Amino acid sequence: MYDTENIFAKILRGEIPCTKLLEDEHSLAFADINAQAPVHALVIPKGAYVDMNDFTRNASDQEIASLMRCAARVAHDLGADESGYRIIANTGGDANPEVPHLHIHILGGRNLGAMLPG
Ligand code: AMP
Repeated sequence: MYDTENIFAKILRGEIPCTKLLEDEHSLAFADINAQAPVHALVIPKGAYVDMNDFTRNASDQEIASLMRCAARVAHDLGADESGYRIIANTGGDANPEVPHLHIHILGGRNLGAMLPG
């Protein structure tokens, strides 16, 4: 069940500000408010999808293509495409997502080290 009061739904409705980086018909990219690396952006679908499972089962091909293209475009625009970057989409309980609206993290701008701590 999608929670229409989650923080990214509020950003999409314009009720909460964001530092917008890129937008198209289906997707919005903005800066993460608590950056974990010199480059830390989030890309979200404009549609109401809880996570990657919901999105890949229910979104249109156009929405899916938009999200992936926006992610790569933002990495390029922020100068991380040549040096390298990591994309993460926390999905489901073991991944501990905080916000129940699908978001892809784009992290880069420094060597990110091992994929998982420890
Ligand atoms: P996750 O743990 O994968 O659900 O990541 C949620 C991310 O959303 C975290 O990196 C937060 O810093 C980020 N975040 C939460 N609220 C906002 C906001 N208002 N604007 C931008 N990023 C946010």
